[in-house]
Amino acid sequence: MKVALITGGSRGIGQAMVKEFAGACYSVAFTYNENGAAAESLVTGLGEQAQRALAYQADVRDFAQAQGVVKAVQETLGPIDVLINNAGIRRDRAFHNMDPELWREVIETNLMGPFNYSRAVIGGMIRRGGVILNVASVSGLIGIAGQTNYSASKAGLIGFTKALSREVARFSVRVNAIAPGVIETDMTESLDENARRKLLAHIPMGCPGTPEQVARLALYLAGEDAAYVTGQVFTMDGGLS
Ligand code: NAP
Repeated sequence: MKVALITGGSRGIGQAMVKEFAGACYSVAFTYNENGAAAESLVTGLGEQAQRALAYQADVRDFAQAQGVVKAVQETLGPIDVLINNAGIRRDRAFHNMDPELWREVIETNLMGPFNYSRAVIGGMIRRGGVILNVASVSGLIGIAGQTNYSASKAGLIGFTKALSREVARFSVRVNAIAPGVIETDMTESLDENARRKLLAHIPMGCPGTPEQVARLALYLAGEDAAYVTGQVFTMDGGLS
């Protein structure tokens, strides 16, 4: 049975990925930061699949915790075949009011987080092959006003994806990124009604996407049908970009 580790699996896109991968017969480990109750109810809701699902509280910004989670997953479920760097945050602010703390928090979560987990799994993957999927954003491709910190973190993640894919392709490790547009989760619910209406007006398809759609793309990219796919960014945004 293949093993997937998903960061930020307690809510939103990560939660849909946990369900999708568990349903596709993966053993699934996921991390969360604060929301233990959501993580617990997700595992319980998996029913019989809960036997091969594990939740870990760990802040993605912490390098030592990432090493600890990866070690624990390997000892409990076996070698990690698929890592999905999904955990991410938004802290929007006009740049002229951007505090260093807001900049740092977003970069450390969205860019250091993927570094920490990729660094922790890469030795094992170089020996056995594997897949790393990074959840970026269209914000990292087109840049979005008010999101200089977020856009920079996601553009950085795309550069990381492309460079790492070249380094490890010869070891049968594939590295790709998904760049969603507006997906219906807690992250987008926090937008006020006006900002939301404006955002939807820019989407040619006129509606947001769902976490399940992103999760199914991730499952495809993790699997054998995508065995010849690496170094790519897959946009899923209803035409936004
Ligand atoms: P979400 O609903 O806000 O969920 C975020 C998840 O990340 C939660 O499980 C949260 O855990 C976890 N997390 C946050 N900070 C963490 C930290 N420091 N350490 C460990 N876990 C942490 O977000 P989402 O909308 O599903 O977004 C998932 C990914 O997709 C992010 O990388 C986001 O940038 C990207 N994305 C989202 C959209 C969108 O429209 N939603 C669009 C483009 C890209 P807790 O529950 O414990 O807080």
